[in-house]
Amino acid sequence: MIPRSFEYFSPRILDEALSLLQKLGSDAKLLSGGQSLIPMMKLRLVSPQYIVDINRIPGLDYISESGGQLRIGALAREYQLETSDLVRSRIPILADTTKVIADPLVRSQATVCGNLAHGDPANDHPATMLALGATIVATGPKGQREIGIEDFFPGLFTTALEADEILTEIRVPLPPPKSGGAYLKLERKVGDFATAGVGVQITLDGGGICQRAGVGLTNVGLTPIKAKQAEAFLVGKTLDEATIKQAAELAASESAPMDDIRGSADYKRDLVRVLAARALLRARDRAKGGA
Ligand SMILES: Cc1cc2nc3c(=O)[nH]c(=O)nc-3n(C[C@H](O)[C@H](O)[C@H](O)COP(=O)(O)OP(=O)(O)OC[C@H]3O[C@@H](n4cnc5c(N)ncnc54)[C@H](O)[C@@H]3O)c2cc1C
Repeated sequence: MIPRSFEYFSPRILDEALSLLQKLGSDAKLLSGGQSLIPMMKLRLVSPQYIVDINRIPGLDYISESGGQLRIGALAREYQLETSDLVRSRIPILADTTKVIADPLVRSQATVCGNLAHGDPANDHPATMLALGATIVATGPKGQREIGIEDFFPGLFTTALEADEILTEIRVPLPPPKSGGAYLKLERKVGDFATAGVGVQITLDGGGICQRAGVGLTNVGLTPIKAKQAEAFLVGKTLDEATIKQAAELAASESAPMDDIRGSADYKRDLVRVLAARALLRARDRAKGGA
């Protein structure tokens, strides 16, 4: 339970952190909330030679709105998302998601950006960000680049970030009127990772027809999954019982779970079906003005 020894750096500005990452190469690991990295180091699943701790860099802990987007800075903690009026009123799926992550102690330290940067298909934010169509801002030695969330998770515990890049901001488009979303997860006990989770974000038109649908799945594949067939099926339809049932079945068919201690693959696939139907109902109610 004791990590191997490492050299510790605590830069005070972003440029210094970027220079360190460039100089130290793949033997370095960035530390933000430390809620995944430190347990993995203690278990010696990873043993970085160098730690670059970004926690003392000022100005990265924001959740703000500008240019029609919600912007989440690299050091914004889960509890900030949980307590943000902007998030609760405009993007309740994000509040749903953060509330079911671990426990208050973990959420006081864990960062939203770290949750994505870790690349764990069991983490909850990836599915929600897929449903919302978020954009990732990666800052590296050559400046900033934007990565669509769809392209951010190429493989297991792998992201589109280069070793010398920092995920500095998540940009979430602020949903237009008549939008609603929901994130639902089944966990074996409070604080556990998901047996399965489903995030849904929809926008309706004045007549109740679905204009846009985003559906993301948690912990039912080697990467977070965007349920594209379910999304395409929903667009142009009234979200009645039959449509929701069929979309939920499509989402289940797009999952690729494996048997493990949380259940069999068949059980998890069926769980996706049930959670997707419930998340769609809640998203539809919220789009129509419900809580
Ligand atoms: C008991 C417990 C229960 C948990 N349960 C859940 C759960 O139910 N759902 C869930 O989603 N998560 C859960 N987590 C994980 C938690 O949300 C982590 O905080 C999250 O996975 C990583 O965020 P972090 O800020 O702590 O990152 P760190 O642990 O600091 O870093 C994790 C990885 O991401 C990299 N990284 C971090 N930030 C950046 C960045 N800005 N740019 C580039 N790379 C970066 C690090 O180098 C490292 O490789 C749990 C953790 C614990 C300890």
